[in-house]
Amino acid sequence: MHMADWWEPGSNGSVRCLMCPHGCVVAPGKRGRCGVRENQSGALRSLNRGLVTSLAIDPIEKKPLRRYLPGTATLSAGSFGCNMHCAWCQNHSISQAAPAARTLSPEQIVEMARRADCPSVALTYNEPSVFYEWTLDVARAARREELGVVLVTNGYINPGPLSELLPFVTAMNIDLKSFDEKKHRKWTGGELRHVTRTIGTVARSDCHLEVTTLVVPGVSDDPGDIEAQCRWLAGLSPDIPLHLTRYFPSWRASAPATSPDTLRHLAQIARKHLNYVYIGNL
Ligand code: SF4
Repeated sequence: MHMADWWEPGSNGSVRCLMCPHGCVVAPGKRGRCGVRENQSGALRSLNRGLVTSLAIDPIEKKPLRRYLPGTATLSAGSFGCNMHCAWCQNHSISQAAPAARTLSPEQIVEMARRADCPSVALTYNEPSVFYEWTLDVARAARREELGVVLVTNGYINPGPLSELLPFVTAMNIDLKSFDEKKHRKWTGGELRHVTRTIGTVARSDCHLEVTTLVVPGVSDDPGDIEAQCRWLAGLSPDIPLHLTRYFPSWRASAPATSPDTLRHLAQIARKHLNYVYIGNL
């Protein structure tokens, strides 16, 4: 099993993972909250390095990215595991479980992208920061070949690993799941301030940034929250594209789908502050 990056030894054989803000202290034989980093004999191991569960050639707009290499395809790969546990996850079969996977090297991913005439590769489908080591390897290999590197992420990563990875990433779409701290914590298990810190860091870098909010009733459909979110994003740059996407019931979430009128109303609010607002999944 592969050694994980970004951890330190603790007491009594435990280890502390430094990858994401959860900062799991993992006892011997146990795993962190993401379920894919395990303490084996006092060392943290990555259980999913190079294990690919999902592979497809997608339009870049499907990530969604609307203002990065428009009209192109991206070779998209995902593994399994996630450090958030959103009840409505549409990819729960890979984010919250460990399905069958095949082993692919970064060089194979790059070669597949080349053969399919994709100018970029995307680490997506599940959270790329919980297969960080492979994500970093793929990103380095792709940049050596001058391919773009896309991350579709919840932004729940510590500043250290982010600063190591960011120079090899050319575009990101970061989920901002709710701009209300309490709702964010309740529904995702993560704290909003860490996600906004990541968005701020990426916005100040050379990496292209777009943001997605899945509009879930009772979680992220409050007009005041959306207004505050868009005002804050505009403070970083009014040119950051925002995707407001429609929620549909999935996994453990059974609330009815978001109404199109709600999405249109929130988009109107967002457009007071941001220059590029897109409605998705209608
Ligand atoms: S990456 Fe996983 S093990 Fe590490 S702190 Fe986050 S949830 Fe815990």
